[in-house]
Amino acid sequence: MATNETIISSVVQKVLEQLINEEKTLHQGFNGVYDTVDEAVENAVESQKKLIAMPLEARDKMIAGMRKSALDNNEMISKLAVRETKLGRYEDKIRENILCATKTPGTEDIQPIAKSGDNGLMLLEYAPVGVIGSLTPITNPTGTLIHNGISMIAAGNAVVFNAHPSARETSTKMAEILHQAIVDAGGPPGLISSIRNPTIETAKQIIEHPKINMLVATGGKPVVKAVLSSGKKAIGAGAGNPPVLVDETAHIRRAAECIVDGASINNNIFCTCEKEVIVVDEVADALIKFMQETGKAYLLAPEEADKITKLVVNSKGKINIEYIGKDVQVILKDIGIELNEKYRLAILDVPKDHPLVWLEQMMPIIPIVRVKDVQEGIRLAVELEQGNRHTAIMHSTNVDNMTAFARAVQTTIFVKNGPAYSGIGLGGEGHTAFTIAGPTGEGLTSARTFTRQRRCTLVEGFRII
Ligand code: NAD
Repeated sequence: MATNETIISSVVQKVLEQLINEEKTLHQGFNGVYDTVDEAVENAVESQKKLIAMPLEARDKMIAGMRKSALDNNEMISKLAVRETKLGRYEDKIRENILCATKTPGTEDIQPIAKSGDNGLMLLEYAPVGVIGSLTPITNPTGTLIHNGISMIAAGNAVVFNAHPSARETSTKMAEILHQAIVDAGGPPGLISSIRNPTIETAKQIIEHPKINMLVATGGKPVVKAVLSSGKKAIGAGAGNPPVLVDETAHIRRAAECIVDGASINNNIFCTCEKEVIVVDEVADALIKFMQETGKAYLLAPEEADKITKLVVNSKGKINIEYIGKDVQVILKDIGIELNEKYRLAILDVPKDHPLVWLEQMMPIIPIVRVKDVQEGIRLAVELEQGNRHTAIMHSTNVDNMTAFARAVQTTIFVKNGPAYSGIGLGGEGHTAFTIAGPTGEGLTSARTFTRQRRCTLVEGFRII
C-alpha cells in the first residue's frame, strides 16, 4: 500500500514533469544565443529566478545533462575548436573536455556548514550571486565553457558568456550544447547564454551592465584589469609563465618525460603548461639527453635556436602570435627543419636572458636554462614567474628543496614530480578548473567560488546533545 510520503512524492514528480514539458514547448527552437547584451541579461535574470525556485535535485539533473552532452559532442567541438582557432591539438582538446565534464564539481561543492553550541545553531549557506558575466579565452574555448557552465549553474546562477571573437563559432556552439542540455533536463532556457557576435565592446557592456552581479575573466592581463576596475565583485584568472625547476636529486629520466608531456600538451596553450626549464648544471646534460630519448623532443642546435627565436619573437620583443598553439612541425618547417609526426616539442639550451625564458610563448618550443645550484634556480624561477601567482613545477626528491621553492614562489598551483597538467587534475588528485584565479586568490575555481555566503542564526535552539 502506498504511504502518504510516496503519494506526495509522485504528485510532486508529476507536477515537476508537467512544468518541465510546458517550459520545453514554450521555448522550442530557442538556443540561448542573443544579439544584444541587454536581451541576454534580461532573460538571464528571469531564468535565474526560475532556477532558484527549483529543487537542488533538478539542478543536479541539469548538471548531469551538461556533463553528458559535453562528452557526447566531444569529437565535434574539439574538431571545431582546432579548426576555428587554429590552436592546439585535437586529441588534447578531447582530454581537456573529458576532464572538465567529469572533474568539475557540482552542487556537492556548495554543501552548507552548520555549527551548534550553547547559544544555538549557526547555518552558513553558499547562495547564488545572480547573473554572472564570463569573458572566455581563445585558448580553451570548450573546456572553459564546460567548467564555468557546470560550476556557475551548480551554484544557482545564470551566466552570460562573451567569448573571444576568434573562438566565436566554437564558443557559441559549446554554449548552445550546454543550454540545450539544461532545457532537456527541465531547466529554464536562457540560464546559459552567449552573445552572437562577441567583441571587446560587448565585453564592456557586460562589465558595465547593472544587472550583472559578478564578473569572471579568463585571459590575459588586460581583461583581468578590466573586470577588476569595474567596481563589481570580480574573479580574475590571468596569464602565467610557469617555471619548472629540476634539481640534482630528481629522478632525471622521469623529470624529462614529465616535462616533455607537460610542455607539449595542446601545443603548450594551457596557461599552466611548463614555459621554461631551469636545471641544476650537474644534471642538465642528462635531462636534455632523456628528453631527446622520449622521441618526442627535438634539440635545436645553437644556429637553429637563433633562427627559431627570430621567427617566434618579433622585433618588438613580443611573441609572434602566428605561431601560438601550432604543431612543432609547422613552426620548425619555417626555418627549414622537417620533423616526423612523433615529435611534440622543440627544446633549446639558452642563457637566462633569452627572450623565450621571460615570455609566455604558448607554443611547443621550450627553453632550458642551467643554474649553478638549487638556490640560484629558486631565485631565478621566482623572477620568471613574475608575480603572476599562477603555476610552478619542481622535480626533486629533497623535501627541503621543494618546500623552499614552494614557499618562495607563492603560486596558486605547485606541482611536485609530475607534469604541470597534473595540477589541474589530469593524472593528479583534486578537481579541475580552467579558470584559475591567481590574481584574485580563489585558486582553482568551482561552484563555491561563484556564490556569496549567507549566515542564518537560530538562538538557543537545535543543540540536541
Ligand atoms: P585574452 O585576454 O586575449 O582574451 C580573453 C577574453 O577577454 C576574450 O573574451 C577577450 O575578448 C576579452 N578581452 C580581452 N581584452 C579585453 C579588454 N581590454 N576588455 C574586455 N575584454 C577583453 O586571452 P586569450 O588570448 O584568449 O587567452 C590566453 C591568455 O589567457 C594567456 O595569457 C593565458 O595564460 C591566459 N589564461 C589564463 C587562464 C587561467 O585560468 N588563469 C586560463 C586560460 C588562459
